[in-house]
Amino acid sequence: MPEPERLSDHTTLRLGGPARAWVRATTDDELVDAVRRADEAGEPVLVLGGGSNLVVADDGFPGTVVEVATSGVSADVEGDDPTCGGVVVEVAAGESWDDLVATAVERRWVGVEALSGIPGSVGATPIQNVGAYGQEVSQTLARVRVWDRRLRGIRTFAAADCGFGYRTSRFKADPSRHVVLAVTFQFRQGELGAPVAYTELARTLGVEPGTRAPMTDVRRAVLGLRGSKGMVLDPVDHDTWSAGSFFTNPVLAAGRVPAGAPSWPQPDGSVKTSAAWLIEQSGFGKGYGSGAARLSTKHTLALTNRGAATTDDVLALAREVRDGVESRFGIRLVNEPVLVGCDL
Ligand SMILES: Cc1cc2nc3c(=O)[nH]c(=O)nc-3n(C[C@H](O)[C@H](O)[C@H](O)COP(=O)(O)OP(=O)(O)OC[C@H]3O[C@@H](n4cnc5c(N)ncnc54)[C@H](O)[C@@H]3O)c2cc1C
Repeated sequence: MPEPERLSDHTTLRLGGPARAWVRATTDDELVDAVRRADEAGEPVLVLGGGSNLVVADDGFPGTVVEVATSGVSADVEGDDPTCGGVVVEVAAGESWDDLVATAVERRWVGVEALSGIPGSVGATPIQNVGAYGQEVSQTLARVRVWDRRLRGIRTFAAADCGFGYRTSRFKADPSRHVVLAVTFQFRQGELGAPVAYTELARTLGVEPGTRAPMTDVRRAVLGLRGSKGMVLDPVDHDTWSAGSFFTNPVLAAGRVPAGAPSWPQPDGSVKTSAAWLIEQSGFGKGYGSGAARLSTKHTLALTNRGAATTDDVLALAREVRDGVESRFGIRLVNEPVLVGCDL
């Protein structure tokens, strides 16, 4: 009997026990077949991209992991003049997100340059409406093609039907239903990126917020900022053995934001505040922890595996931080990564 695949070899936290069965799907047909067969057999399914937003139990996964390894990028330039038209790009779910961003910057496709350096697959980006540095994938996404496990058919959702919000979507809200096969983006073309919507990024670029900067500069600046926070994967840097931000930024009723906390007003009148600020103010500084799971030494929002951690260690630290923030501020932080076979 070959050794079972372990999730720890496929997650950026390097955590998670063995899977009962494993299928690596390199075409849409293989992907749909693997999921359909497991569903018909009543077998639990875990759809796996790059494993960068997953916390998997030490016991592993008692079902079939379907690893999405599909490939293909096809671009369709609109209109006769490529300099003023847009471009529609369909990308297979298994493609690397950051490779797509690099291609976009190189080919002058505007609107994802601030999303440089985010690990994982293209197919996972609509799940939590990936975002960073003032951009979200929902701003350039045109449609998502999925296998609907309930209806047992292929469906296409226009962006407006994806239920996108801050780190959420209809796909996240209804887990286990949709397998993303491909994502289509609609980009403007140009040398300059989208207006810079994040103060720290604007400052780094030396431009006013709301103005544009060359896309190559934006990508370089974002990769620099992310690197300084341990948010670009680096196998030798334990600060990056994480699932990125472990908690989402709380969105509160106006007036509930603690004095001194950063606040970002939302269109519906609510206010988003900073989970990192709340964590720090509750006594959990960078590097907090005494065991093999600790806060990143570069960013309080990332829970990291220093090399010998277990999932239980990471969850214990997450509970300590969540409960500490709640007792200090009465605000309950919510985890951003998907928990598989475990709970907070
Ligand atoms: C260092 C670091 C930095 C990060 N920075 C950011 C950031 O700035 N912004 C941000 O939003 N996120 C960030 N993340 C989180 C993560 O990279 C993103 O959420 C990413 O989109 C996850 O992609 P993945 O392929 O690794 O998904 P996985 O971790 O493999 O899966 C995540 C979830 O999506 C589901 N899924 C994956 N592929 C598919 C598919 N094809 N169809 C259906 N479901 C699918 C899985 O079942 C699971 O529920 C960061 C993570 C790390 C480790």
